[in-house]
Amino acid sequence: MTTKLGLKHIQAIAPYVGGRPISEVAREYGLDEAKIVKLASNENPLGMPKSAQEAMLKAAGDLGRYPDSNGFELKKVLSERLGVPSGWVTLGNGSNDILELAARAVAQAGDEVIFSRHAFAVYPLATQAVGAKAIEVAPTASYGHDLPTMLSAIEASGDKAKLVFVANPNNPTGSYLSAQEIEAFLLAVPAHVVVVLDEAYNEYLPVEQRYDAIAWIKRFPNMILSRSFSKAYGLAGLRIGYGVAQPPLTDLLNRIRQPFNVNSLAQAAAIAAFQDVEFLQQGFELNRAGLAQLTEAFDALDLSYLPSAGNFVLVKVGDDDDAGNRMNLELLKRGIIVRPVGNYGLPQWLRISIGLQEENAAFIHALRDIVAQNKVLTG
Ligand SMILES: *Cc1c(COP(=O)(O)O)cnc(C)c1O
Repeated sequence: MTTKLGLKHIQAIAPYVGGRPISEVAREYGLDEAKIVKLASNENPLGMPKSAQEAMLKAAGDLGRYPDSNGFELKKVLSERLGVPSGWVTLGNGSNDILELAARAVAQAGDEVIFSRHAFAVYPLATQAVGAKAIEVAPTASYGHDLPTMLSAIEASGDKAKLVFVANPNNPTGSYLSAQEIEAFLLAVPAHVVVVLDEAYNEYLPVEQRYDAIAWIKRFPNMILSRSFSKAYGLAGLRIGYGVAQPPLTDLLNRIRQPFNVNSLAQAAAIAAFQDVEFLQQGFELNRAGLAQLTEAFDALDLSYLPSAGNFVLVKVGDDDDAGNRMNLELLKRGIIVRPVGNYGLPQWLRISIGLQEENAAFIHALRDIVAQNKVLTG
């Protein structure tokens, strides 16, 4: 008998499934890499801002040295804009890092971590990695977070509940929670439970949907706000995000993070991107236009989709549990990479990241072609 190495709760983790690389799809389907359209990882279709590229190149001369472990300059611009002291900010290797640090700081075997079904895939990963038990709460009828039911789950969990993840907007559903709903939740959550509000897509919210999460950070010592430079700021490849919390929680995150968890290039690029208001606005407008372009096409094809507050949209491509896979395969053959979400418990749906106008058009063209041939809908 061979010895099985490793901890049981680590063996039980299902690995994260990402978007397929362009080169791999080109090889497998015999396609020209240059013609492949990838709308699969919620990246910024504008790429990296020029301002960030320049800042990064300037910083590249100094890579023989370790990065600033405390990210002084970046925390300074963040704290000035957000209106909190620098000591309330934790930098992360992507906001993914912040989510994991939160789990490691407050939960272990015997504890419970609460999140919604169809929420971001990293929540179960971060939970299982620390040996805690995941409590997945049924969503609303429109696949969003059901905060009152999540609250009941926290209450039922009693002292075991240590952490709750809330994504707003959520990935992959695009669902949105209003400030009133979140505030009522924060007021009701017991003080011993840490609430992570994951705002990876916050910058894509239309003005009328925005709210002041920082005001909550000042009021609730058990809250961590998590934000990303990967989506609206176009720095996914550099891996940088940040958390905001009051000093006692921030101090915990800082004790367990790697001392040099954010590299120098990422810090330099993030400072520039954060101040590049024009780039952010351009991306925002492109996203709103692209969302309208996609949803108009879905309407015309009579396909259901969920209202999205993010830079992606979930579309239903059939009624049986293989529909997402079949449509995905047909799209791949036509050089379009999107994201099947069967691993999120949504096998009848596909998640489409909103791209450039012409990328969206290429996807719509392929989708129309597939629907016209009735290849997917009927199975
Ligand atoms: C993309 C994403 C993140 C993490 O992004 P990073 O690249 O690690 O900053 C966090 N939460 C949600 C909901 C996401 O979709």
